[in-house]
Order: sequence, then structure tokens, then C-alpha cells
Amino acid sequence: MKTKIQEKFKTLFGQDGVFYASAGRINLIGEHTDYNGGYVFPGAIDCGIMAEIKLNGTQKVKAFSMDYDEFVEFGLGEEDKPEQQWARYIFGVCRETIKRGGKVEGFNTVFAGDVPLGAGLSSSAALESTFAFALNDIFKNNIDKFELAKIGQSTEHNYAGVKCGIMDQFASIFGKKGSLIRLNCKTLEYKYFPFNPEGYKLVLIDSCVKHELASSAYNKRRASCENAAAAIRKNHPEVEFLSDAKRVWLDEVREDIPEEDFLRAEYVIGEVQRVLDVCDALERGDYETVGEMMYQTHFGMSRLYEVSCEELDFLNKLARKMDVTGSRVMGGGFGGCTINLVKEELYEPFVKAAKEQFEAKFGHAPKVYDVVISDGARKL
Ligand code: ADP
Ligand code: MG
Repeated sequence: MKTKIQEKFKTLFGQDGVFYASAGRINLIGEHTDYNGGYVFPGAIDCGIMAEIKLNGTQKVKAFSMDYDEFVEFGLGEEDKPEQQWARYIFGVCRETIKRGGKVEGFNTVFAGDVPLGAGLSSSAALESTFAFALNDIFKNNIDKFELAKIGQSTEHNYAGVKCGIMDQFASIFGKKGSLIRLNCKTLEYKYFPFNPEGYKLVLIDSCVKHELASSAYNKRRASCENAAAAIRKNHPEVEFLSDAKRVWLDEVREDIPEEDFLRAEYVIGEVQRVLDVCDALERGDYETVGEMMYQTHFGMSRLYEVSCEELDFLNKLARKMDVTGSRVMGGGFGGCTINLVKEELYEPFVKAAKEQFEAKFGHAPKVYDVVISDGARKL
């Protein structure tokens, strides 16, 4: 990828620039916990965005996307917003940097990526983080890493219309090879944990379906969580978010809230604990326990939180049947990928069976992505 970018940069601009890169991400465990003030546990992966950049002495950005085979030029003022979605991410990062008092001037760039788009691996965060990190480095703006992640998040909010949380950009900026990062979504404290599953592989099976319910169901889940938290708060005023509640405190209010809200809350409180249990297991190098927790999360998302779907349950069940170490739906649910922790010797038969049996049942083949936990935003 680097050579291709370099050649194109030379052809377009007749010079050489400096290389920066960032990564997509996975979340090992901790789903629907972010808006409940709980933990998420993401890591950067070995696919991402790579960009060559050089200042051009003007107030214009000249950008070429290798993957869209398209050149766009835009100014740096709010009124200069480009038409192309991919260029808006770069524009947004420039604008959000300027809004924070950072310096940004015109530059030339050629970039390319290998994060599958829209598969739940956050290719957009990889793109934002690459440029947020690069601009900060080039213009010596001294913006701290957390704020760089927020530049990406604000770009999603203000220039892509996606009201996302901080996890994707956080993972893409802070990611480190061989480490997952536990982020407390309430306090924003974070801690690295080792993730070196020797003898295992991490593989995503993409169902390639996205069921429509997602946004209305999401709002209903949030309302249930808030309702359960409010009921618990009456007995335990320290409960700000549902994740602050102990399991026994939920049992105290079982009769006071609808059964549905109880089940939703049961999942969330369990999930927060599972993230902690997985972290402990990783410190012991105990990947079997990690895998078991992943299955528990899948069960919770499917039966208690009810955000799975037939395709994902099918893939999860197949993994269990084949003795795959861990498997669960990754992301918000209603489609997308399962993330699987698979012993190396089981990898090939599992992937083969998943492809064949999924296609036989649902009429289209799933996609398969191998991932390795790798570095996030960096200068090359
Ligand atoms: P994801 O879940 O992968 O983040 P999004 O829809 O949020 O999906 O982001 C995908 C968008 O990000 C693309 O439509 C494109 O605008 C931009 N993007 C991602 N990767 C690339 C790339 N390699 N080249 C150009 N634009 C990219
Ligand atoms: Mg995205």
C-alpha cells in the first residue's frame, strides 16, 4: 500500500511527503455498556488507513483517495465543505482542530485503506484518527491524545451526522500492539491489558445483514436502562448510571419495573462485570475464560437484551457446536459480525463450516476477516 501511495503522490505532486497511519478497531467485550457508564474493551487492529502528507504553502487541501480514485480540493473555512463524504472526514478533522485552537494550513495528501467499509470495524475512525494525529504532529499543536480522539468524534457528529460515542476514535488513537484498552465510559479512565493469544486466532464472521429495527430498538433499550437505574436510585442514591448498580440492587426493584426493563438491566450489569472478569483472565493468560465470557455476552445480547438476530445466533451456535473458544455478536446488534476466538487448529474447519452452512441457510456467503491487535495512530 505504501509504495502505491508513494508513486501516486510523486505523480500528482512531484515530491515526497511524510507517512502517517491509523487503524480500525474491534471490541472484545463490553457491548451496550457505554451509554450506561460502564466499560468497553476495544483494541486497534492490523488494518487501517495510511496517508502521505506534505504542506503545500497554500490555504487549500489537495487530497487524493486511492480507493475512490478521486481527487478533491477544498479550503479550510466552514463554507468550504466538500461534497464527497470521504473528503468531509478530512475537512471535519481540519475544522475541529482549528476549533480547538490548533493551527492547520494547506497540505497535499494521498491516502488508502484496507478496513472494510461499514463492517463494524470503524473505517471512518481510522480515517479521522490518521489525519487528527498527523495534523497535530505536523503543526506541533500539542493537542493531547484524548482530545485527538474527540476531534474524530466531533467530526462524526458535525460532518458525518453520526452521533457516536468515543470508543472507536479512542481505540484508533490509543491502540497498541498486543494490548486491549479498558475504557471507563463514565470517568474516561483507561488501562491497557495484554492480549497475546498465542495458539489462537481472532476472526470476524460478517453476516452482511443489517436489520432495520436498529435505531428504534436502540432508543427503547436506552429507555429501559434509564428506567431501571431510576428505580434502583430510589434505594441507592449513588447510582448515577445503571453500571453503578450491584446485581442484588436490581433484584430489590424487580417487582417495581416491567419485566422487560429488568432483563435489559440484568444484561448490562452482567456485562460490566464480564469486562472486569475478562481483564482478570487476560492478566493470567487464561483465554479459555475469556472465550466463555464472550459466549455469556452473546447469550445476554440475544436473550436478555434482545439485540441479536437469526443470522448471528446461527453463527454463534455453530461456533459453540464446533468447540470454538469464544464467540459473540460484536457491535450494537441486529446484524454485522460475530467476533470469534478460535484455536489455530480449529480455524480452517470453523471458517469453512461457517461459510458453507451460513450460505446454505441464508442464501449468501458471510465475509471473513482475520484481525490481530496492533498499533493505532502513528507516524511511520
Ligand atoms: P465504518 O463502520 O466502517 O466506520 P462508516 O460508514 O462510518 O463505516 O464509514 C465509512 C466511510 O468512511 C466511507 O463511506 C468513506 O467516506 C470513509 N472511508 C473509510 N475508509 C476509506 C478509505 N479507505 N478511503 C476513503 N474513504 C474511506
Ligand atoms: Mg464509522
